[in-house]
Amino acid sequence: MKARQRFRMVLLGSVLIFFLALTNSNAQGFLRDFLFETDAEGFLFKTPVNPDEAYLIQKYDVYNSRAKGYHTGIDLYTKGGKPTIYPTTLGVVVLIQSNGPCSDYHGKGGGCEDHGLGNTVIIEHILGNGQRIYSLYAHLDSIDPSLSEGRLVDHYDAIGTMGASGYGLSDYWKNSDGTPAIHIHFEIKDEAVLSNPRGKGTYFGYLPASADNYGYHDPYTFISRVKVSYGASAVEPLISALKDEDRTVRLLAAVILGKIKDTRAVEPLIAALKDEDECVQQEAARALRKITGKNFR
Ligand SMILES: [Zn+2]
Repeated sequence: MKARQRFRMVLLGSVLIFFLALTNSNAQGFLRDFLFETDAEGFLFKTPVNPDEAYLIQKYDVYNSRAKGYHTGIDLYTKGGKPTIYPTTLGVVVLIQSNGPCSDYHGKGGGCEDHGLGNTVIIEHILGNGQRIYSLYAHLDSIDPSLSEGRLVDHYDAIGTMGASGYGLSDYWKNSDGTPAIHIHFEIKDEAVLSNPRGKGTYFGYLPASADNYGYHDPYTFISRVKVSYGASAVEPLISALKDEDRTVRLLAAVILGKIKDTRAVEPLIAALKDEDECVQQEAARALRKITGKNFR
């Protein structure tokens, strides 16, 4: 299981390189369709933490009398420990904001660049209609060292651990008994910014009026409802890629064809069972199993 996960990490890390290779061969349009057309199977938005490990403590757009504002996301609170946080769905890391740094006083409004969000990651997603949308993960205890801006990630890639960080402090957010309030503040928004994407004024986490007016969305309208997806138009180029001289390209093509599940890929994948590289053979067999429901090896 662990080896499999490690393999996936390596694989997904390689996807970006694959994209760059495609971009170099003037395939930008293809690249876009490949990931995000509506008519193919894709990745569903999910909660950013295993639901067994956390519970909803504050909903989107509720008025918080302590913060004197409307909540810009949802807060999920730990059931114990510091659970791992995952991307809500496939996307590209576009912003990593470390907790702090603060110019002076660590208190609220004290000149800290994280603005109370602590260790924060923003990931870009493109929906079936081409719309870009951003997910934000705040108050992380730590950010996974493997993460970097520009990296493609999916729900298997840990982005960090749940925490209580903010204003440069690892435990700024506290329960009424003084213990750290380990939780994630999770937003879905229209721009890759820590603050509000729209509306008058600049706010972080809480707003003077409904969050819908400031470029935020209720995460629960996305979770388990909306997909980002691979494109059916990608099938032919991916079939060609099965014969690429670069084994990474062949490997990824097999993996992605397995996700798209288009029957046009069956014959080419059967041919790929005889690939010189054993990993490519394995992924071709796995893809065939996904498409046809039958075992080929
Ligand atoms: Zn929150």
